[in-house]
Amino acid sequence: MSQAPDRGVAERLDAADPLAHFRNEFLIRDPAQCYLDGNSLGRLPLRTRAAVLRFLDEEWGGRLVEGWQEWIVEAMRTGDLIGRTVLGAGPGQVLATDTTSVNLYRLAAAALDARPGRGTVIVDAANFPTDRYILEGLCAERGRTLVILDNEDGADHERITPARLAPLLGPDVALVSLQVVQYRSGARQDVPGLTALVHAHGAHLLWDAAHAAGSVPLHLDHWGVRLAVGCTYKYLNAGPGAPAWLYIAHAEQDRLQAPIQGWFAQADQFAMGPHFDRAAGIRGHAVASPSIIGLRCVQAGVSLIEEATMAACAHKCATGTALMVDLVDAWLTPLGFTLGTPREAEQRGGHLSLHHPDAALISAALRQRAGVVADFRRPDAIRVAISPLATSYCEVWDGFARLRDCVASGAYTDADLGPGTVT
Ligand SMILES: *Cc1c(COP(=O)(O)O)cnc(C)c1O
Repeated sequence: MSQAPDRGVAERLDAADPLAHFRNEFLIRDPAQCYLDGNSLGRLPLRTRAAVLRFLDEEWGGRLVEGWQEWIVEAMRTGDLIGRTVLGAGPGQVLATDTTSVNLYRLAAAALDARPGRGTVIVDAANFPTDRYILEGLCAERGRTLVILDNEDGADHERITPARLAPLLGPDVALVSLQVVQYRSGARQDVPGLTALVHAHGAHLLWDAAHAAGSVPLHLDHWGVRLAVGCTYKYLNAGPGAPAWLYIAHAEQDRLQAPIQGWFAQADQFAMGPHFDRAAGIRGHAVASPSIIGLRCVQAGVSLIEEATMAACAHKCATGTALMVDLVDAWLTPLGFTLGTPREAEQRGGHLSLHHPDAALISAALRQRAGVVADFRRPDAIRVAISPLATSYCEVWDGFARLRDCVASGAYTDADLGPGTVT
C-alpha cells in the first residue's frame, strides 16, 4: 500500500491555487458537502442569477421586441466566446444552440450528405448513448451501415489508438464519430492524431467534446478538426438544459448543407422571401430563435473561465485528478476498487472512474449519509470529478476520505437504491 497524501497536501494545494477564489463565485448552500459531480452538472455561478434577473427585468420586460436588435446575433456571439475561451476556435465557427444531441444529428447528417457514395459510419462502443442512438437512427434513415469499434474490452480504458481504428477505415467510410474524453472511463483521445488519420481516408470525423470542454486544453483550429459538438452544463457551468454548441471549421461551412433549413439561416432573414437562400458562413447552420435566457447562462459560466483562463483550469484538472489517483492507490485499491482511467494526466480529463462490485450501493450511501455527491455508471463504476473553478482540493480529499470510511466500515450495504431513476 502506498503512502496516502495527508490533508495538509490538499490544504497546501488550495493555498497555492490561483483559481481558489473562484469558489466564491458559486452558490454553495452546504459547505460541508463534497460535490464531485461537476462533470454531470456544474454548480450555479452567482453571476448567472444576476444576469438572468437583469435580462428579465431590463431586456425582455423593458425592451420587449426591440431586444431582438441585439439578440438576433447572440447565438454567434456566444459561440465566439466559447470558441476563443475553451475550444481554440477563431471567430465565426461556433454556434451556441440547441442540445448536444440535436447538434450531433445536424452535423452527422450534413457530413453524410457530403459523402453520398460512402456507406459506412463508425462509432465506438463506449461512446455516449445519445450519440450511438442518433447515429443508429441516421444510418437507418439514410441507408448506411453503422460499424461499432469495440473499445469496451477493458484494454486501454476505452482509448482508441490509430492501430485500433485504422483497420476499420477505407474508401467506404463516410463518417467517424468519437468523444474527446470518454464519458465513462474519463480517457482522453488523441484528437489531432485521430483527426489526421480519418481525414487521410477522406471521411469526416465528428468530435463530441461534452466532457472535454472546460477540463482539457482544446485547439480545434490548430488540430485541423472540422466538426465538433458539446454541451455547456458540465464544466462550463451553464445550468441544466442550457444551449449546447457546435463547431464547423470555416472551410466546411459552405460545403456542408444543413439538414434543417430554418429562417435564422436565410441570407436575407427579414425579406421573408418564398425560397430558402442560405447565408454564408456559420449563420447558414443556424435554425431558429435561440433561448436568450439560456445564452445568458452560457455567457456567465464561460466568462468565469475566460477570467481564470482555460490553461489554468486544465492544469487544475490534471493536478486534482493526480491527487485522486494517489488517494485511490493508498486507500481504495486495498478496499477492492480498481482505477478505470489512465494514470497519465494527458490521457484523461477532469474525472476518474472507479470500479467496485458494489458501486451502486456505495454511490447511493455517499449521497444519503456522507454528503458526497459522485455518480454511478452501470455496471460497476463510480465517477468522481474536479470542476476546476468550483471544487477545492480539500473538497476532493474530504470526499475521498469519506468514501474510504464508508466502504471500510461496510456502512453502505443497506443504502437505499430506489426509486430514483437518474444515476
Ligand atoms: C453529457 C453528454 C451528452 C448530453 O447530450 P444532451 O443532448 O445535452 O442531453 C452528449 N454526449 C456526451 C459525450 C456527453 O458527455
